[in-house]
Formats: sequence, structure tokens, C-alpha cells
Amino acid sequence: MVLLDRSTLMVVFAAITLTMLVLFYFDTYRTSRASFAGWWCVAVGSFFFGAVLYILGEVAVVPWAPSVGNGVMVLGSGCVWAGARSLAGRRVRRGLLALPAGAAVVAAFAARSWGDAGIGSIVLLAFMGSAISLASAELWRERGRSWHLVRSLAVATAVCGVYYLSRMAGLAVLGPDDPLFQLLFGTGITLLMAMILLVVVSSSITALNNTRRTEDLQELASRDTLTGLLNRGEFMRRAQQRLRANLDAGICSAVVMADLDRFKAINDRFGHDAGDRVIRAFSDACRTTIRTADLVGRYGGEEFAMLLTGVDADEGVRIADRINAALAEHSSLPYGIPAPTASFGVVDTQMTNVGLQRLIREADSALYEAKAAGRNRAMVGGAEKFLT
Ligand code: GH3
Ligand code: MG
Ligand code: MG
Repeated sequence: MVLLDRSTLMVVFAAITLTMLVLFYFDTYRTSRASFAGWWCVAVGSFFFGAVLYILGEVAVVPWAPSVGNGVMVLGSGCVWAGARSLAGRRVRRGLLALPAGAAVVAAFAARSWGDAGIGSIVLLAFMGSAISLASAELWRERGRSWHLVRSLAVATAVCGVYYLSRMAGLAVLGPDDPLFQLLFGTGITLLMAMILLVVVSSSITALNNTRRTEDLQELASRDTLTGLLNRGEFMRRAQQRLRANLDAGICSAVVMADLDRFKAINDRFGHDAGDRVIRAFSDACRTTIRTADLVGRYGGEEFAMLLTGVDADEGVRIADRINAALAEHSSLPYGIPAPTASFGVVDTQMTNVGLQRLIREADSALYEAKAAGRNRAMVGGAEKFLT
């Protein structure tokens, strides 16, 4: 077995942290600019800088370097904690990070002057272990997006935090020269542990970042930019699924098609911007009226589609009336515009077992009947119409 001395291990550690830093910075941080990725960059940079200071101390060039190195390592661990907090959307007080780092430096210098460098190491490990364990606790609490990936980060940091705290206890109880301490917490195994943590956390953050970016892009691709409602493709996809699930569960669904009345005249008289504001007001009116479990999408220019769960055609008509009422009361309509209205066509699945396309066609023809009957109203279409 090849045994490597401390200096060689430190050089290996420094080389790995620097490589990790460069890869992570260009691969993940530059593409996302996410604050948790930024904190991780600073943490890895600190670990690199700390390792360089330890190497300088090891080759006895700069006697004060290891004491400052302790402070830099504590700062790096503090950044791991800060990154965990910012990932969970919690606030970070930057000034707080300098305090333990400064305390670690002071303790290391004081311990050296007393001739017992071990105390400096105990303080270092206490701060590092606590910061990394706190980071793990922050991550464990996270229940937001991609939490399963965050969980793996929480476990990796927990293992590392517990290891540092155990090393601290081992150092205090057994002392640095005890064979058991050397076996469990020697320099080699400690640096190996730190390197594994670096690789695991960096790759997990990169995976997390990619997952979040993909989710953001998917969300962007499924929304209409003017209203934030589902776009036509996404509405159709989700509505097909919901309709099938409702049919399987024996729950009635209503499909509602809506079209703004004499909208071209609003555009022509008040301009395209005013028209856009009316479209947004209508989408707000839909959102505030229907339940969150229901689906609403912008089907075309000033046409909208809804799939309402557990609602029959009569209830669909009442909901359409409430949307028109909410639209009339909308506060952000351009000044001077006569209250806009919409016409609706409503069908339900009570008497039929047809697909979404067919329901939309039937709702659309009921919508045109509503237009022909004078607009600003909802008409029931499909099988329901012929049975009543
Ligand atoms: P009706 O009551 O019969 O529905 O009359 P209408 O004027 O609403 O019907 P029409 O379908 O002729 O007009 C729709 C207009 O909607 C035409 C188009 O210029 C306008 N439009 C479509 N998309 C947008 C948009 O995103 N913003 C704005 N401002 N206007 C839009
Ligand atoms: Mg119209
Ligand atoms: Mg239209």
C-alpha cells in the first residue's frame, strides 16, 4: 500500500478543489447565476484557498498560514450553510459568516502561542461540523421544488457534518497521536471525506440546477405569454388527461368555450394595448371565478377554453355568468372603454361519452348560437341541449 504524506494529500486536495471550482463555475454557475450555486462557488474557492494556506504551513514557508487557513475553511463551511439557506429561499446575513471565521483564526493563533495547536483544530472542527450540520438541517426542511434532489444533498452534508463533529470529539478525548484517532480521523481519511463531499455536492447542485431549468422551460413552454394561462397545446394535453380521469371516476365535466364580444371594435377604437388589457382582464376574471383544480387556457386570439370538473352544463352557465360579472367589475380596464363582455358555449359529459375534440366542437357551436342570440350570454350545446 502506498502511503502519502500530508503535504502530498493537501496538494491533491487543492488540485481537486480547483478543478471542481473551474468546472462548476463554467458548467453550472455561469449558466444559471442561481444564488445557491454562487455560494457553493465561494465555498469551494475557500476550501481551495484554505488548502493552499495549509500547504504553505506544511512546507514551513509561512508560519501563520495554517491559522489563517482555519478561518478560511470555516468561512467555506459557512458558505455551504448560506447556500443551503438561499436554496430554500431563506435570507442570509453575510456579516454572520465572518464571526466564526475570525474566531477560528484567533483560536488558532492563541493555541499556537500556548504551544497546543490541538485546541485550534478543535475550534476549527466545531465550527465546520456545526455549519455543515446546520446546512443539512436547512436542506432537510426543504419541501419545495425538486426536493428529492435536495434530500440527497441533505444526507451528504449530514454525513460530513457528523464526521467533523466526531473528529472534534475524537481529538478532544483521544488526542491526535492515538492510533484509534489516526485510524478513524487521520489526515488521509479526512481529506478523502472532504473530496467525496465536494464531488457529491457539486454534482447534486448541477443536477438540481438542470432540473430546475428544465422545469422553468417546461412551464414557459406551456403558458401563454400575454395572460399566463395555459396555451392551447398544454390546455388540450391536460384537459384530455383530466377528462379521461373524470370519466373513469364517474365525475361529470363541463367544457366551456368563451369569446370576447365585439372585440375587434375595442382594438379599432382604443388601440391594440387596450385590447390586450381587456384580454388580461378576462383571464383574471376566469382565474378568480373557477377553482384551482379546473383548467383554463387561451385557445386563440380572444377565445378561451375551460374544463370544469364536477360541474354540469347548468352549473357551467352559472359560472360563465359569474365570469362576465367579474369582468365587468375588473379594476384595471382602460378608462372610457364600455364594459367588455363575452359569450360562452357550454357542454357537459353527463349524457355523452365523446372525446375532447368533439366536446369543444359542440361547445363552439353553442358559442356561436350565443353570439347570434345577442352576445353577453352562455348557451348550452351538445346532447344536453336536445334532452332538455
Ligand atoms: P364577436 O363578438 O363576433 O366575437 O366579434 P369580435 O370583434 O370579437 O370578433 P373577431 O373574431 O372578428 O375579432 C377578434 C379580434 O381579436 C381580431 C384580432 O385582431 C383580435 N386579436 C386577436 N388576438 C389579439 C391579441 O392578442 N391582442 C389584441 N389586442 N387583439 C387580438
Ligand atoms: Mg370575439
Ligand atoms: Mg373570435
